[in-house]
Amino acid sequence: MAAGARAAHGESTGIGLLGLGVVGSAVARAIIERHRQGDPNFPLNLKSVVVRDPEKKRAVELDRSIISTDAESVIANPEVGIVVELMGGENPAFDYISSSLKAGKPVVTANKEVLSKRGGELLSIAAENGVQLFYEASVGGGIPIIGPLMNDLTANKIQSIRGIINGTTNFILSKMAHEGADFNDVLAEAQSLGYAESDPTADIDGFDSLYKISVLARLAFHTEVPVDSIHQEGIRNVHAKDFRYASELGYTIKLLAVAQASEETGLLARVHPALIPLDVPMASVNGALNAVEVEGDLVGPLWFQGPGAGPEPTASAVMGDVLRIAKGGPGAAKPVQTPAPFDIAPMGDHVCQFFLRVTVADRPGVLASIAKVLGDADISIDSVLQKDSDVENQSADLVIMTHPAQEAKMQDAVSSLRQLEAVVRLDSLLRVETYPNRS
Ligand code: NAP
Repeated sequence: MAAGARAAHGESTGIGLLGLGVVGSAVARAIIERHRQGDPNFPLNLKSVVVRDPEKKRAVELDRSIISTDAESVIANPEVGIVVELMGGENPAFDYISSSLKAGKPVVTANKEVLSKRGGELLSIAAENGVQLFYEASVGGGIPIIGPLMNDLTANKIQSIRGIINGTTNFILSKMAHEGADFNDVLAEAQSLGYAESDPTADIDGFDSLYKISVLARLAFHTEVPVDSIHQEGIRNVHAKDFRYASELGYTIKLLAVAQASEETGLLARVHPALIPLDVPMASVNGALNAVEVEGDLVGPLWFQGPGAGPEPTASAVMGDVLRIAKGGPGAAKPVQTPAPFDIAPMGDHVCQFFLRVTVADRPGVLASIAKVLGDADISIDSVLQKDSDVENQSADLVIMTHPAQEAKMQDAVSSLRQLEAVVRLDSLLRVETYPNRS
């Protein structure tokens, strides 16, 4: 650890805070209040704060003289022992984090985007310079998940990580499940309540979950999991009808982020809406909550749940990292292993049951023609529901649950199904999450 990062007895460590928005304000407030109280368990002192617009009104009262727009001078300030990056985005966050590490200053960040895109480089820079790079708040807000993977679970070979790690989409899907509401109506409500951004793309198209699962997978599987190697689907195409039929079959729908690895299959990471059985714990994680299941070979399944965002829960995770460094916690960052311990597997290798909702012509022989297309692709049918006959248009909803099938074969079958004259529309193709240890 860098000289100056660790507080000597009775002294406090100077913090350079890059960003004073939602999370930065909560972190600044916690440092200022506890410093004022002289809390001996909190040996920190807010030295400098960097923002884009120094004139902006802030959610925390602080001495204006410590606010600037010059990040490099804050990083160079000898009174700053730990740099806390809470600006977000890839750039200039990458430059500031790497400058800090190169200057021998430990960094705490909540920035999943820079960590997923450039985290490998940053961890190497941290290791070369013998300083810590901690990032508990980057995944799961207030839930301690990075720390356990980094420390407590290192004796395990991690087999899988499966999470609901985006609160906005979970809020929307929970409302759709419980109220039978349509996606667009619930999205508008989520925006009016402040649960969704005015531009909700990062959340509902799965980018946020993608960044987070890439960060978790790198840590759990000791290898780079580039974001463009991760299958990504958001929730725009999930309909109220899918919830209705899924529930009749004993499932609900969640946006899952999953990474699984074994020597035989390689490492496969994916973000997509999935049917999950109503009786697994993940099915009861509702609203803006987050949850992560980790399965290790020694420990078995572990379950983490809590507030995945918000100023105070996220500040809790940030401050935990800062205090661990200030109090002389564990050593330098560990870069990924070379050669990579796992090959990255393509999504086409994934095997699961599928839920297909198709609008078909309401006449005899249609199911047989669909079953033939699926059969030709080696996919067998587990169950079929025929619903909502539309007499005027002579069409009906056909809901097909398949037996486990390979993704690549299912995608081929879907292309052929779209060519069938009896298929009016292929409305939904959703994966069913497999829980191998479920009794
Ligand atoms: P935010 O409210 O948008 O705040 C960003 C802050 O960074 C602002 O103070 C902004 O300055 C400053 N900033 C941005 N670009 C800058 C630049 N180029 N130079 C100097 N200052 C710059 O963001 P946030 O919600 O606090 O999120 C911060 C980080 O925490 C992100 O990485 C986010 O993913 C992560 N995170 C957030 C939450 C959450 O609940 N919000 C939860 C977990 C993790 P101005 O104020 O002057 O514009």
